[in-house]
Amino acid sequence: MITKYDDLDIRCPQLGHPLNFSYCRSTHNNTPCRNILNCWFQRLPVERFVQDHFPAGTIEKLTTPPRPKLQSLVELIEKAQAAKKNGVIPCHDMKQ
Ligand code: SF4
Repeated sequence: MITKYDDLDIRCPQLGHPLNFSYCRSTHNNTPCRNILNCWFQRLPVERFVQDHFPAGTIEKLTTPPRPKLQSLVELIEKAQAAKKNGVIPCHDMKQ
């Protein structure tokens, strides 16, 4: 049952206040926070929980380090330069 651990609470290192496991398992469009394994491994079988309740690639996503911000920034600059060269504005990369 996906709600089995929902009432357990923890102090969130990112938000700086207590919250329930229900928040951690559903932070990003009903997918787990990317820190869920680190935050909860001492309190419950969180890896098993994720494997049981989320698609196969979720554990891989949670254990893959995020791309460095500098790399993302360089890629955005390269796209913008290419778009400028071609006379196209890459609107899909811009947040509204
Ligand atoms: S899993 Fe994410 S939301 Fe939950 S306590 Fe850790 S950092 Fe905060």
